[in-house]
Amino acid sequence: MKLKGSKLLGGFNRFRLILTLGLAVLLPAAALIYVNFMQLRTFQRDKVLEATINRDFQEVLAITEKKMNKKAYAKVSEAREMFPSPDEDSDDKEKKLDRILAECSCFAHAFLVDEEGMTFRSQPLTDEYLKKEHARLYETFNEWFTNGKEGKMFVEQLQKKSQHIYFYFIPGKRADGPAYLDTALFVLPDVARERVVIGGVTFDPCYLKSNFFPEMLGDQVNQRTTEQGGNPMAMIIYPSEMDGDHDTKPLTATAGWGDGKPEVMKKMDDAFRGLTLGIKFQGTSVEAMGRNFVRRSFILLCILTLLTIGGLLLTKHVVSKEMALARLKSDFVSNVSHELRTPLALIRLYAETLELGRITTREKKQQYYRIVRKESERLTALINNILDFSRIEAGRKEYEFRETDIGDLVHNTLDSYRYQIESQGFAFEEKIDDNLPPVVVDREAIARAVVNLVNNALKYSADDKFLGVKLYRDNGSVKLEVVDHGIGIARRDQTKIFEKFYRTGDPLVHNTKGSGLGLSLVRHITEAHGGEIEVDSTPGKGSKFVLSLPLNGSPQHRITQTT
Ligand code: ADP
Repeated sequence: MKLKGSKLLGGFNRFRLILTLGLAVLLPAAALIYVNFMQLRTFQRDKVLEATINRDFQEVLAITEKKMNKKAYAKVSEAREMFPSPDEDSDDKEKKLDRILAECSCFAHAFLVDEEGMTFRSQPLTDEYLKKEHARLYETFNEWFTNGKEGKMFVEQLQKKSQHIYFYFIPGKRADGPAYLDTALFVLPDVARERVVIGGVTFDPCYLKSNFFPEMLGDQVNQRTTEQGGNPMAMIIYPSEMDGDHDTKPLTATAGWGDGKPEVMKKMDDAFRGLTLGIKFQGTSVEAMGRNFVRRSFILLCILTLLTIGGLLLTKHVVSKEMALARLKSDFVSNVSHELRTPLALIRLYAETLELGRITTREKKQQYYRIVRKESERLTALINNILDFSRIEAGRKEYEFRETDIGDLVHNTLDSYRYQIESQGFAFEEKIDDNLPPVVVDREAIARAVVNLVNNALKYSADDKFLGVKLYRDNGSVKLEVVDHGIGIARRDQTKIFEKFYRTGDPLVHNTKGSGLGLSLVRHITEAHGGEIEVDSTPGKGSKFVLSLPLNGSPQHRITQTT
């Protein structure tokens, strides 16, 4: 009944453990992993990282354009302030326009259109391209503005604009390739609104290409990199008609552009109409970064999952071990109480019988006395085992080592068991070598080890009742062998039997009272003497325990020892 109860309890505890692990740890961990996994999938599917970077890129491009516009407008406004009045004579007009060109090399041409016609000045026309450019621009604007009607309409439109400036571009050509000719057209500050007077300055395309754009883009890239760190960006400017054909040479690109397409583009539509800004990361693409990020996150998640599973298994292992130990302890308590009760009951029974004086024959009386003595010895042995064990557990076990005739010690110990051994029908073989050297041991402890080993041989033997004890010298040690032809011990149990409370699952073991402490004490005692205990056993055939004590090696703790 008791066994059944404890089994039931064990099963219940196990169920509770699994339930607790499942509910408290496994479920939240699995949910967390699942949610993270799904989030990552969504992240991957919706390209969240890519979208965020794109938004950021768009913002950078908008800011860059705004800054470029501001600078272009400032330069043009400065020149506009210096423009000649339409009422000055043509020499003065030319002089003033020349001064503008001399002071600001960023402009290639400057011109003024008024009622008298067009005054058009350029930087020195040093090559064919410049000459052609000059002629072309002169022709374009002359045709456009001096026919009266269109000029008037354009002036009206300029008046409506906040800064009275309008940028107009045409593609051109310079010695080093295609040129971007950007002309700012404006009305002059102190001229009556109804007059058709238009000023204009054309940015030098070489200046834009080699100074203005690289500087503006470079500043922006550097600022972003220092502010936000991370992957450095690269920017590019190319003519808008090149859209989709990025192999053509761009107008300008910052360092580290390398090859590859811009991630985000923006057509500029104010001061630099006709040009497109592009942006990307140096040396990598947003797609690759997104892929890497997702891959890294997946790997991390897998590692976390493995760690969680590992942790759970470890927890389960530790908890199961603790539970097994708790079960062993509770078995131990019930076993020990049984073991105490049996000899006590016998002692009481025989003592009472003797007390009543009903036993008349001397032999009977002697027999009863012997039983009382034997049972009290058993009781003492058991209590000593428990006391020793508790001392060891509490780290208070002390040994008293003395030079001892080990042969005598073993023989005397066996002697007090001889009757019990033989009366149980055991064939008993005792072989103690003569001339064994004296050994330094704790007598009581060694006797207890012998008693435990012998007791086990008696307890765990079924039909073939044999007990052999040998004591002999083997090189540098003295060996004590205790052999039986009993039930034997399975290989997997052979190391465990030395653990406290451990008892094998054999039915005979279950039906035999025991505390599971004997062998753990034997091992402790042996190790305290610097020796070792080994077992060699075949299930069904029997067991051999060999306890070796070193001869010259000093015991681990010589006089007294505390563990
Ligand atoms: P106890 O005998 O009180 O159970 P021990 O620590 O002395 O505790 O032994 C632990 C276990 O080792 C025993 O329960 C038994 O299963 C096994 N055992 C010990 N000695 C023998 C032996 N001679 N033959 C078979 N099994 C043994």
